Amino acid sequence: MIVHLPANLSQDIVNELAKLTKAIVIKKPEYYVFVTSSSVKELPQVLAPFAINEWIMKSDMQLSSRDYFNGVRKINIGDTYIGGDCKNTLMIAGPCSIEDEEQIDTICQMLVKLGVKVLRAGCFKPRTSPYTFRGLGIDGLKLLDKMRKKYGVKIATEVRDATHVDAVIQYADIVQIGAKSMYDHSLLTACGQSDKIVILKRGFGTTLQEFVNCADFILSQGNDNVILCERGIRTFETYTRFTLDLCGVAWLKKHCNLPVILDPSHAMGYDYGVPDLARACVAMGVDGLLIESHPNPKCALSDAAQQLNCNQFTDMYNSLLPIANAVGRNIV
Ligand code: PEP
Ligand code: MN
Repeated sequence: MIVHLPANLSQDIVNELAKLTKAIVIKKPEYYVFVTSSSVKELPQVLAPFAINEWIMKSDMQLSSRDYFNGVRKINIGDTYIGGDCKNTLMIAGPCSIEDEEQIDTICQMLVKLGVKVLRAGCFKPRTSPYTFRGLGIDGLKLLDKMRKKYGVKIATEVRDATHVDAVIQYADIVQIGAKSMYDHSLLTACGQSDKIVILKRGFGTTLQEFVNCADFILSQGNDNVILCERGIRTFETYTRFTLDLCGVAWLKKHCNLPVILDPSHAMGYDYGVPDLARACVAMGVDGLLIESHPNPKCALSDAAQQLNCNQFTDMYNSLLPIANAVGRNIV
């Protein structure tokens, strides 16, 4: 259950009420938000004298649920927005990993020329094999910072584990929690306690309920800037890397109040399918796309097969504009 209480309650009373109801408490400027387990189906008596508003919830998808807020939360990224009434589809693009200055500068120039505002590149890479490139670490963050200053782009980059979470939060405009880390409570909590925008990627073996519950871990720490990312789930199919769950996206759009972006690159695993999938996603009216692009994909140190080169990316990008237009959206 979610209950709003007045912002002018004393801290002692708030603490006492939280203890009695076993609620998580979030302080907003206008009110306190108390969130108890969703198994609580009646307003606890101790809260009754104070409650401004209350919501009985069907499941522990609570703060992210349309039953609590029936719309899409609006998120500000630089000079643009997604969610709310914006009808914007944000393009987030860049290489899987930042490899060196020349590589990131080349891709950044191409993106900026097209009007892309968010550069995404990993510095701390979660990998399937321990013998592959794991990222440039802090040196990579510094290079991304250089690109931000040089080109005015916003930076999205991934946090892999608790050893570098503070550094990533400090350098990034958008922090990505990857599919393999979706359940990591120390990451969810650290990102929840910051005000950075968080892209939470769906674990490839997780249900939608488990996915949104992890988003609630971030929201319940007080950070409202959460974006969900569908990046493909594991099915019996092996000819594509994963299976992009568009049905799941339709479910999220109906039941969840967070913006949803799509990552066809990791779902497909091969460059040839990515532009078609991106077009399908835009036609579906999603809030954003995450596309991997590299100046020379064959030589990429991670995810080589799926990255688009500059010509492929440019062609795909231009083809998305009329589709967005047709469904009443703008690519930003
Ligand atoms: C990535 O975005 O480069 C990545 C590793 O993605 P995922 O966490 O979805 O596998
Ligand atoms: Mn990748």
